[in-house]
Amino acid sequence: MTDTAHYKVIIIGSGSAGLTSALYTSRANLDPLVIEGIQPGGQLTITTDVENFPGFPEGILGPELMDRMHKQVEKFGTKFIYGTVTRADLKKTPIELEIEGKKVTCDALIIASGASAKLLGLKSESKLMGHGVSACATCDGFFFKDKEIAVIGGGDSAMEEATFLTKFASKVTIIHRRDELRASAIMQERALKNPKIEFLWNKMIKEFLGNSEKGLEGLRLKDTKTGKESDFACQGAFLAIGHVPNTEIFKGQLELDDTGYIITKPKSTRTNIPGVFAAGDVQDSIYRQAITAAGSGCMAALDTQHYLEELEFSKG
Ligand code: NAP
Repeated sequence: MTDTAHYKVIIIGSGSAGLTSALYTSRANLDPLVIEGIQPGGQLTITTDVENFPGFPEGILGPELMDRMHKQVEKFGTKFIYGTVTRADLKKTPIELEIEGKKVTCDALIIASGASAKLLGLKSESKLMGHGVSACATCDGFFFKDKEIAVIGGGDSAMEEATFLTKFASKVTIIHRRDELRASAIMQERALKNPKIEFLWNKMIKEFLGNSEKGLEGLRLKDTKTGKESDFACQGAFLAIGHVPNTEIFKGQLELDDTGYIITKPKSTRTNIPGVFAAGDVQDSIYRQAITAAGSGCMAALDTQHYLEELEFSKG
């Protein structure tokens, strides 16, 4: 690739939204470039069994599903590049992006940069990240064989991670800030029935205890009802408190909502900038499923196709 390579379509992100956009745009002969991002394959590559993607009655492992999508897309000639977008000038014509120092331009852009795990933002959390604190059970669970672990959160991710971690840990305690779970009934039931899983209700994390040499030794908790503080001993703590959209580099250019998600026009994937479309978790704070991301990836590809046809037509 030269420093000024130009593409009709560039897709930022290679999760199920990005790859579905690539599948449709490559089959429409638009020769897209996919910028794979820091986590090629997206969030499904750090999940285990996917039981709710249609077409797989026995379920499928997240990384395998993404591998299959990648192979399907490669078949139609999509180009891929590793790396992340470090600068985006969306209002320029053509749209200009920088991928770790390399400049690329495009006529239309599909942003499918997804979302990343949310952290609590405590100093002790960043100090002990990788030393007992983690936001990815499938990446780090293996290191906690026969250890006592805490999982923080009350949604589907927390239930899924806790259930998965019982494969390694001697005991898993789900720590939730309320006394009611947000997780779906089936995921709750699985966790509640698991003899290795216990629950601590109405507790928030005040501090992660330990140091980088010894690793995590426990958590300082605060009861959200009584305000009482207590210490909880554990060697591992996994955060499963939701996600934040990866939109930092688009701030000030694209219309974002209060939590940073890209705002798309109703019933479309169009953003406030002509030629810039958004698909998947980066614009969806509600459904956030692999299948809905894939669906909006398809919508973005079709919207892009129409946009480029109109652009061509207006040029005469
Ligand atoms: P989520 O549904 O937003 O749940 C986040 C949990 O973390 C909530 O229980 C929330 O507490 C808690 N939380 C948030 N901020 C916190 C903070 N600062 N301190 C303490 N606790 C905090 O996120 P998710 O579980 O990652 O799920 C996201 C989406 O993915 C959902 O649509 C879910 O259905 C889907 N998902 C599906 C599967 C599956 O089907 N296999 C697996 C994983 C995720 P509150 O409840 O008090 O707000």
